[in-house]
Amino acid sequence: MEKTTKNLKAFNTFAIDCTAEAYFEFTSKEQLPQTAQIYAQYPKTHILGGGSNTVFLNNRISGAVIRICNKGIETLEENDRNVIVRVAAGESWEGFVRWACKRGYCGIENLAAIPGTVGAAPVQNIGAYGAQAEDSIAWVESFDMARQKFIQTKKEDCRFGYRNSRWKSENKQELIHSVVFSLNKNFVPNTDYKALREYMERNPEKNPTPERICEIVTEIRNSKLPDPKILGNAGSFFKNPTVDKDEYERLKSKFKDLVAFEEQNGYKLSAAWLIESCGLKGKRFGNVGMHEKQALVMVNYGGATGKQIADFALRVRQTVKDRFDVDLQTEAHMVE
Ligand SMILES: Cc1cc2nc3c(=O)[nH]c(=O)nc-3n(C[C@H](O)[C@H](O)[C@H](O)COP(=O)(O)OP(=O)(O)OC[C@H]3O[C@@H](n4cnc5c(N)ncnc54)[C@H](O)[C@@H]3O)c2cc1C
Repeated sequence: MEKTTKNLKAFNTFAIDCTAEAYFEFTSKEQLPQTAQIYAQYPKTHILGGGSNTVFLNNRISGAVIRICNKGIETLEENDRNVIVRVAAGESWEGFVRWACKRGYCGIENLAAIPGTVGAAPVQNIGAYGAQAEDSIAWVESFDMARQKFIQTKKEDCRFGYRNSRWKSENKQELIHSVVFSLNKNFVPNTDYKALREYMERNPEKNPTPERICEIVTEIRNSKLPDPKILGNAGSFFKNPTVDKDEYERLKSKFKDLVAFEEQNGYKLSAAWLIESCGLKGKRFGNVGMHEKQALVMVNYGGATGKQIADFALRVRQTVKDRFDVDLQTEAHMVE
């Protein structure tokens, strides 16, 4: 891997103008030993996928940046019911979903049109429209750059949770080079999610295929979310906070129209509702704001720095804290 200096504006969907002075592109497994040398040499090493969940806080990134660019999809096993596929971390997630749906392989069709790479999908256990990456992941293959060791992490050891995994805030020395998926060949559409169910009720289809569900989810998402190519953003900026029953009841008694969903271990509050109720939907400060149609999506109106984005995020968190005494957590990764 050759070291270069790289401007990363095109490599993060917030379009933050910043430069990595020690930039490397990882394209094949043979380079993994070299990543250990980079890891040892620099005070920090940041692994970059598609940059669609990343906020670069500074104009100059300290340490090394390794962008994951390896490619390839390989079928490991197949029978009448399912197929096991190994996908290189640098493959586009959207491309992989389309590849699978085209072949009638299912389980990930509801996760269509999520930007970014396959390698980042387990990091925050991407989720949308009633599905999560963990539903289809069999195991994850990584390289521990600190211990110079190959690791295979079975699904049950990935510590998957809501937008969470063993890689979300820890184990940053593990570079995921491939993800192995177990996909179904017998399709049962999952249309429980409200927006998808309503669409299907309005436009009934007799036997929708995974490919058709992929198209529908893409269409719904495109009608709702700002396109990062036009307006820089990282999708939902904050997670939906989970609270226990007592906390939920305290809030519900005070705020009658509170939007929340009951879960196994408490209640998930709608972060979008909390933000909108503080009057922050569509609010803009300088070059940054919460999107006018999506209260949860922070946008760069052009020229915003990472610091301006982080300052605005702090302002939103503080406003929500003052009004509801609820802590919002960011979903996006802040990189110094
Ligand atoms: C318009 C829009 C819509 C979105 N919608 C959704 C959605 O519906 N659901 C959802 O869950 N997310 C959504 N996101 C967020 C984002 O697309 C996902 O989190 C995606 O998985 C990030 O992939 P990436 O390759 O861009 O990751 P990056 O932003 O490059 O990295 C994210 C984190 O993963 C780590 N990482 C990346 N690759 C690797 C690797 N190979 N090994 C180890 N660590 C790695 C990085 O170090 C970083 O900590 C959306 C974003 C946008 C812009």
